[in-house]
Amino acid sequence: MQSAKLPTVVLVGRPNVGKSTLFNRLTETRDALVADLPGLTRDRQYGVARFENRRFMVVDTGGLMPESRDPLAVLAEEQARMALDEADRVLFLVDAKVGLTPSDVAIARELRKRGQVLTLVVNKAEGRDVLAAAAEFHALGLGVPHVISAEKGQGVPALLRGVLDGLPVVPDDATQDQDDRVCVAIVGRPNVGKSTLVNRLLGEERLLAADVPGTTRDAISVDFEYEGRAFRLIDTAGVRRRARIWEGVEKISIVKTLQAIERAHVVIAVVDAQADIGEQDARLMGLIAQRGRAMVLAVNKWDGLAGDVREQVRYQIGLKLPFLDYAPTVFISARHGSGLGELMAFVQQAYASTMRELPTAEVTRVLEQAVEAHPPPAVLGRRIKLRYAHQGGRNPPRIVVHGNQTEKLPVAYKRYLANRFRDAFELVGVPLLLTFKTGD
Ligand code: GDP
Ligand code: GDP
Repeated sequence: MQSAKLPTVVLVGRPNVGKSTLFNRLTETRDALVADLPGLTRDRQYGVARFENRRFMVVDTGGLMPESRDPLAVLAEEQARMALDEADRVLFLVDAKVGLTPSDVAIARELRKRGQVLTLVVNKAEGRDVLAAAAEFHALGLGVPHVISAEKGQGVPALLRGVLDGLPVVPDDATQDQDDRVCVAIVGRPNVGKSTLVNRLLGEERLLAADVPGTTRDAISVDFEYEGRAFRLIDTAGVRRRARIWEGVEKISIVKTLQAIERAHVVIAVVDAQADIGEQDARLMGLIAQRGRAMVLAVNKWDGLAGDVREQVRYQIGLKLPFLDYAPTVFISARHGSGLGELMAFVQQAYASTMRELPTAEVTRVLEQAVEAHPPPAVLGRRIKLRYAHQGGRNPPRIVVHGNQTEKLPVAYKRYLANRFRDAFELVGVPLLLTFKTGD
């Protein structure tokens, strides 16, 4: 069960202080585990980092607060503010080369008001005396600065040890099951019908029982059965609210959504059949895919639409969410309860696919059969050889193929192999990650 919420570390600071450099450094080990799917644009603001066998989420708030703008107005920048609201730790970066600037002072003032656990980080300090680099920033009144070089990595481990101290430890491999429950998160932009779907799946009484005032809603997960199968619903913020106060103006919190995605085995991504697939849909689906999470796409509000609309919706999805071609699409009506059996059956299959153990002998046999049916091309007269393969990880499944000149394999051939593996192991609803190793 993946129940612990990932601690979240948010990077703030004026533009150019090195936030994205630090972000990349923190998330790079994880990057190798990120799905590389056709048509997927990586979201480089949100990432999962690991350090000394613990995981945390890193958010780069981007170029917060340029000089010309009122810091408050900029802090109001929707996602940056929401990310700050949900931060367990805030890293405030300043630049040792430039020194203390009025923007730094303004940002410090705003951050101090928020009363969160804040660490002042003096970046670009390579080749400088640590005490001297830190000296002028003491004036910000934010305690002893941590001096680092994000580019060279100096000071970063010590910084992380300090920052992560006291936060819950979410181990690196949280995919080990303690029980057989499939953890499900329901994700989608406001108004697509998530709460209605939750209601349907849980039944009204269960829903009310779970919605006890005073409990921390973020932490709630609810166990339920659907047609004899056991599931655990990981709460996505706001999904469970009963009365809607505002219609349409509600904003989705990417951090909360990602935390739910992280805790789930399978994500039900909901879109609205009666509306266009928009940018917000694409961004959310992109985040799920980027994490390599198993997913089933639920096209909701299917009731009341003419039959031929289905093909139009499928076409739109293919066009706007091309990276989702691994996700089964189910047409549902949360309102009427139709399609839910099929939806949950796919969820179960996706779970089985993402957790599947692939024995080396079988993986290699599938590789041999694939190569025999359709050998890789020759490069400059030398045939590319693929020798054996084994599983390199689960959730999402990864297969490592060994051979020579593998770096010269055409993309089309890699895709052919991926499809052969996918068919052979009946993988449903998960991206299959293939890596190639050359060497004898
Ligand atoms: P952001 O706007 O805060 O995200 O800043 P970036 O990460 O884009 O960095 C701005 C510039 O500072 C880039 O040219 C980086 O290469 C450079 N930079 C970042 N970290 C360091 C560092 O530790 N030392 C030095 N010398 N340059 C750095
Ligand atoms: P959420 O913001 O994603 O949780 O969406 P809600 O569950 O609150 O639903 C938004 C609106 O869509 C409400 O007015 C629902 O009654 C409506 N809705 C939800 N599911 C369906 C459905 O299957 N068909 C139709 N026609 N409307 C639905």
